[in-house]
Amino acid sequence: MKKKLIAGNWKMNGSLAANEALVRALQAGLATHTASCDVAVCVPAPYLAQAQGLLAAGGIALGAQDVSAFEVGAYTGEASASMLKEFGVRYCLVGHSERRLYHGETDVLVATKAQRALAAGITPIVCIGETLAEREAGRTEEVVKRQLAAVIAANGHCVSEIVVAYEPVWAIGTGKTASPEQAQQVHAVLRAQLHAASAHADRIQILYGGSMNAANANQLLAQADIDGGLIGGAALKSADFLTIIAAAQ
Ligand code: PEP
Repeated sequence: MKKKLIAGNWKMNGSLAANEALVRALQAGLATHTASCDVAVCVPAPYLAQAQGLLAAGGIALGAQDVSAFEVGAYTGEASASMLKEFGVRYCLVGHSERRLYHGETDVLVATKAQRALAAGITPIVCIGETLAEREAGRTEEVVKRQLAAVIAANGHCVSEIVVAYEPVWAIGTGKTASPEQAQQVHAVLRAQLHAASAHADRIQILYGGSMNAANANQLLAQADIDGGLIGGAALKSADFLTIIAAAQ
């Protein structure tokens, strides 16, 4: 059976002191009952070096929150996949809804970013999800399939190396979680789409994200096609994040 993945997205939160306290608390928690799932934290870019050092003991993988679609050159403010790799980055979020919304990231750009990450040996966590208006218009399936299709088209057979995170935009940071049934329904659609695209789709982890917390993680993670979680707010509280990790065992 495929391992679950619990990934924290710290977003633009943290400080040197707060990061150290959070990582040390997670490590202390994991020392008492080792996780049987994969665990990662996606940290803001300025803290990659600090996090690489703190996570060197193992047990928690390092993730970044974005990657450039370009390899090298005059792209002020961007960080390339090969630069991330030098800091031991194992996972990289691409296409988070906040990047799509505030930075105008398109499906094609997100697919290119996934390609860059894969080429550098980094697993892209490709975020997809519908807005509330799209859900209410009955367009959820159409939207998530379109977003995933762009990544499949750009990455061919390498698509079996990605992680997918289904994150309904209306559930991110709002406290409104998709019900386990709503999430499972979309995950099953995505699973079928991946199977049609790759003979190795079985190994692809499909995470749920959107106000997953210590109280609702159990039920969400019990769904047949939910292979883990991408956690925002609750990843900043060690006790909550550890509870979610325990729920994924
Ligand atoms: C996220 O940022 O990917 C996320 C799921 O956030 P939250 O858990 O706070 O909704």
